[in-house]
Amino acid sequence: MKILLHSCCAPCGAYVIEQLQKDYDVAVYFCNPNIHPEEEYERRKMEIKNYCENQDIEFIEEKYNQAEWFETVKGLEKEPERGKRCSVCFKMRLGKTAELAKEKGFDCFTTTLAISPHKDTNQIFAAGKEAEEKAGVKFLARDWKLDNGFKCSCDISKEQGFYRQKYCGCVYSKR
Ligand code: SF4
Repeated sequence: MKILLHSCCAPCGAYVIEQLQKDYDVAVYFCNPNIHPEEEYERRKMEIKNYCENQDIEFIEEKYNQAEWFETVKGLEKEPERGKRCSVCFKMRLGKTAELAKEKGFDCFTTTLAISPHKDTNQIFAAGKEAEEKAGVKFLARDWKLDNGFKCSCDISKEQGFYRQKYCGCVYSKR
């Protein structure tokens, strides 16, 4: 079974990849036009890209279209984290992941986002479900925080010496 994993960064990605590889053939999709500024985007991207190359895992990068992201979240600039803007942001990224999974013949797709204790897992799962219904490809709704997942991801991150960011990604989350 082939799965397309939407990954936001290496610290979240490495643990989830390890878990998924027990059951799936994994490819990683970096679709994160929310990340600001561009230097930060490049830094997070290169970290997970290099990891994938070292592990012989297919890495696919989406175009960095920040203008499209800003247009998508227009009017929601003042929302807090875990509010409506995050819902729209998840829907955009997971919608694109589902479409690519469909186009490239993957059996299913999922995301690393649910590993973060700072994010609302229900919001992420709702966005994944919506994307599943629109594209017709199954969404694997797995809460990676369970079974000490977040701590394990931090341990792997330390071992690998990954860069770990201090904010979610968008310019509003830097406030
Ligand atoms: S805080 Fe994070 S999830 Fe929410 S809109 Fe910004 S980048 Fe997206």
